Amino acid sequence: IKKIGVLTSGGDAPGMNCAVRAVVRTCLSHDIEVFGIYDGFAGLHAGKIEQLDRHSVSDVINRGGTFLGSARFPEFKEESIRKEAIKQLEKVGIEALIVIGGDGSYMGALKLSEMGYPCIGLPGTIDNDIAGTDFTIGFMTCLNTIVDAVDRLRDTSSSHNRISIVEMMGRYCGDLTLWAAIAGGSEYVIVPEKEFDEEKLIKQIQLGEEKGKKHAIVAITEHITDVNALAKRIQERTKRETRATILGHIQRGGSPMAFDRILASRMGSYAVDILMAGKSARCVGIKSGEMVDHDIVECLTEMKRPFRQDLYNLSDVLY
Ligand code: ATP
Repeated sequence: IKKIGVLTSGGDAPGMNCAVRAVVRTCLSHDIEVFGIYDGFAGLHAGKIEQLDRHSVSDVINRGGTFLGSARFPEFKEESIRKEAIKQLEKVGIEALIVIGGDGSYMGALKLSEMGYPCIGLPGTIDNDIAGTDFTIGFMTCLNTIVDAVDRLRDTSSSHNRISIVEMMGRYCGDLTLWAAIAGGSEYVIVPEKEFDEEKLIKQIQLGEEKGKKHAIVAITEHITDVNALAKRIQERTKRETRATILGHIQRGGSPMAFDRILASRMGSYAVDILMAGKSARCVGIKSGEMVDHDIVECLTEMKRPFRQDLYNLSDVLY
């Protein structure tokens, strides 16, 4: 293999730059030319392709976001659009593509593979919602940012004997919420994998008050309920001041922590290795500390992320 392309797609995640850097430097160490595709599949379709060298990835290891840019490009679901995208790659002579993104991006990579174009997927998303890997690139950094925010809310909540509802990202995966609840000592955890019982929550809060708790922090994943309306209802019932905080996009940004830098570096390099070994339509993961790769189709269809019931139980014990 002589020429490899790399792109980042979907929501940005801290550590994506480290993954691109690893792809570039591993390629160069094997005398493979490497090309950066800007702005995800949209940029691929538009032919925004540039050759990268060692210095293209200098000073990016500590930068959040993705210097290649990312985009949502639903048009990529159309075969005719993908055919045009493949033409752009063929124009430059790029033989294989490494796609760093979430499950939507994996679908794009899979579709290209099905059209005979070799692709490898790397899990780049803060949500940790991809099967076949214990961790996705960006999850740990995002988790740390959330815990930092929860710590700050705890200070003010306990000073005012207040109830704080904190809405966290994760889409339809409760990992960020669950892990943040344990690390941040939240009293209540509401995740999409478990049915939300508002009555039970209110009773638990009241019980906590009887136990002498000065504050209550409720960790909740986005898309479950309107947290501002929930805060109002809890305040009416408990007669305690209740505030909702939606952490929003601050969760995505920031310098990647060491864990994500190392994970991304290993995955980026591993992706080049397996392309050199002739593999295609694979996605990279980490399992019990080791690099692994799976069939993208299996990853998207049959493999399910296990819900961490052990952590859910732990959060209950530590409450
Ligand atoms: P995150 O989970 O961080 O949001 P993601 O990769 O899941 O990341 P999406 O917006 O779902 O984000 O997908 C990224 C891009 O992948 C889409 O904008 C589109 O270009 C491409 N894509 C998504 N689904 C498909 C599909 N079924 N076929 C082809 N391309 C797709």
